[in-house]
Amino acid sequence: MPYVGKTNPLLDKLKIISDEEAETVDYVVCVPASTPSRFTDDFFGDCCKCGVKVRYRWHMPRKPKKICLECAVKEMEAERGTK
Ligand SMILES: [Zn+2]
Repeated sequence: MPYVGKTNPLLDKLKIISDEEAETVDYVVCVPASTPSRFTDDFFGDCCKCGVKVRYRWHMPRKPKKICLECAVKEMEAERGTK
């Protein structure tokens, strides 16, 4: 029987997905706007949960809500029902 590794739900959610798929995700995880970036063409938005200013790359999907890393982790923990 082939060995099937346990999938990590956190890693599953963070896996690289195609642009097409990306437009259908619930959230785009962004870093706080205060995070230093080597890019000068980043876009800025507000976290849909806590309202903190976030920055994201211009090529990230526009339709999904933006969420900061901190809230994203909380969301994932809530979804798993564990702490
Ligand atoms: Zn937030």
